[in-house]
Formats: sequence, C-alpha cells, structure tokens
Amino acid sequence: MMPTYLRRGANRLPWAEQVPFRGSEPMAGGVTRRGITMHGEGIERRCTKNHSWLLDYVNKAGVPYTLGWCGKCGYWGQMIGMRRAARALKGGAIVPNGASANKAGQRNIQIVLIGENDTADFTQGPMRNAWVLAEIMDAHKIPWRARKDWGPGASRNRAAWLASGVHGHMHSPAPYEDHTDPQHLHIDVLMREAKRQQKARR
Ligand SMILES: [Zn+2]
Repeated sequence: MMPTYLRRGANRLPWAEQVPFRGSEPMAGGVTRRGITMHGEGIERRCTKNHSWLLDYVNKAGVPYTLGWCGKCGYWGQMIGMRRAARALKGGAIVPNGASANKAGQRNIQIVLIGENDTADFTQGPMRNAWVLAEIMDAHKIPWRARKDWGPGASRNRAAWLASGVHGHMHSPAPYEDHTDPQHLHIDVLMREAKRQQKARR
C-alpha cells in the first residue's frame, strides 16, 4: 500500500516513477538553503500516456531534474534524490561553463512542469496531484514562501537565489539562464492548490 505521508527528509518519492539518471549523480546538498525550483523545458511538453520521454530527453542532455510533474494527468517521475544539490541548471559541475549559480552546493529540488506550460497557464489546468508538492515541502522543511515576480523582469540576484523557499529557473543568477522559465505559472495559485489538496487528502 502506498504511504499517505512523505517521511521527513525522504530522498525518493514513493508515488513517482523512478527514472534513473545515467550521468554522474550530483553532489549531496547542503542544508542551509532549502529550496525548490520550478522549470519548464525548451521543447513541447505534451501530456501523453508515457511521460518518461521528457526524462529520457533530460538524460540525453546530461542535465538531470530531480522530478517531473504533469499537472494534466498527475504523473510524477523522479531522476535523482531530493537530498542532492542544484546542478541541473547550466553552470553547475555537470555543465562546467563557468557560471556560478549552483556552486554553493545547497539543496535544491528541481521540478520540471509537464503539460500546458508553454501555450497555456499551468495553474489554469487541473494541477492533478499537487498534494505531492505539499508533501515534499513539508518533508524537506521548505518554507511556504515563493519569489514574488515570475515575469520577464524577475530579479536574478544571487543573495535572493540562496534564500530558502520556492524559486523559478528564471531567478537563477547563472549568466546563460536569463530567459523566462517556467512560463505562465502563478506560483501563489499553485501553492494554495497544493495545500488544499493535501488537507483534503489527509
Ligand atoms: Zn500527463
């Protein structure tokens, strides 16, 4: 039987398809910063029967996300442990292009959003299994606060990036990551829905 709660500090999600990352595992993350980052991806992210296509794509690119989530059908997939540092963004040790966003070595659970993200507002969709996000935040003691501006003018300040809470790819101070990513996401709506589903489920 599937557990109801995610246990404190869990490395693996019991509700996710496990899709092993074939590259080298990123280093163990620190505990000073407790962060989640939301990502899109530079390709169409369809909701199909089999979602491991996205994680396969990431495997080929050699840069892992921690998790992939489809808000349309509720799919969760996992590539690397949640106690790892942020290195999927360019500039980490995996893609050593000289940027510095991830060299602080702090924990960063990176979630790539699948379904309705490029062409429509992700948070206008059903956000199925958003409760999993709430379980992750509670199990990893990530504060329920998010960056305010998720538009093209969002701040990419390094000190703000190193604060605990929920960020987007667009907030990374890495020099090659200055695009709006994820697009069309209202983080306050998503966090409210995650909490609502978690409460309803328990
Ligand atoms: Zn789907």
